[in-house]
Amino acid sequence: MRFKFTDYHVHTRPWSVDVAKDGPTFEDYIKVAEKHQINICFLDHYELHYVENDKTNPFHNGRVNDYLEEIDIYKETYDFILSGLEIEYYEDKEIHLIEFMDDYRREFDFIGGSIHEWIIGYPITTKKGVTKLLEKIPMKKIIDDYFGIMIKMINSQIFRNVCHIDTVFRYINNNEFVPKEDCDVSDNRILDLGRLCIKNKIKVELNLSGLRFPINRTFPSMDVMKKLRKEGIEFFVGSDSHSLDYFKEKIPKVIEAYKLLT
Ligand SMILES: [Zn+2]
Ligand SMILES: [Zn+2]
Repeated sequence: MRFKFTDYHVHTRPWSVDVAKDGPTFEDYIKVAEKHQINICFLDHYELHYVENDKTNPFHNGRVNDYLEEIDIYKETYDFILSGLEIEYYEDKEIHLIEFMDDYRREFDFIGGSIHEWIIGYPITTKKGVTKLLEKIPMKKIIDDYFGIMIKMINSQIFRNVCHIDTVFRYINNNEFVPKEDCDVSDNRILDLGRLCIKNKIKVELNLSGLRFPINRTFPSMDVMKKLRKEGIEFFVGSDSHSLDYFKEKIPKVIEAYKLLT
């Protein structure tokens, strides 16, 4: 890698379905990253459920190989880009995930595991998804289920890296859907997830995406990050960019985050 710092989490068009139709391509990021001297890792969403069942999914029908080939072509010219995937964890697809990792772990520079949606059609990372889920399930159960599945994902050791460890609070927080009294939203349970990652030798993301939502903090918070650092956790930093403006704006923050981590 040519530069000192790396943004491990950028989403591209057309590979991530939540990037706008006129959103940034590999090339768009590359130009900006080179100018601002930062390494980037393309970390597009790979969600087995949609990859398999949705013909319009960019990775449907084995197109992950096209993704890799495309990045490889850029790698011939640019020595500051990494190939990666943000893979969705599903409790009931562990065997399938392990098979995929066996086949592709070596093909990629970096793979992170994430949880956005454990009931298909109800993602906790969109406002619409949380709204719908809250009509179906009590808030306490949503939070508890999230942490329960996170524990399963970490203990499965399928992934060596975990993204946005407490993203269930993207919309469930005092600035948006205010946590009910019976909800455990304490830092302790986030710290415990971090400790479980330490035990399993898993790296955790310091994800800057919360800065564009009402929660206005990183995932996990700086406070939790500092405590976990003292306990020996390893972090990587990701802007979780879905647009070029956000990416550009977050470059100084990514660099600042690395300085805080060391
Ligand atoms: Zn994510
Ligand atoms: Zn992401």
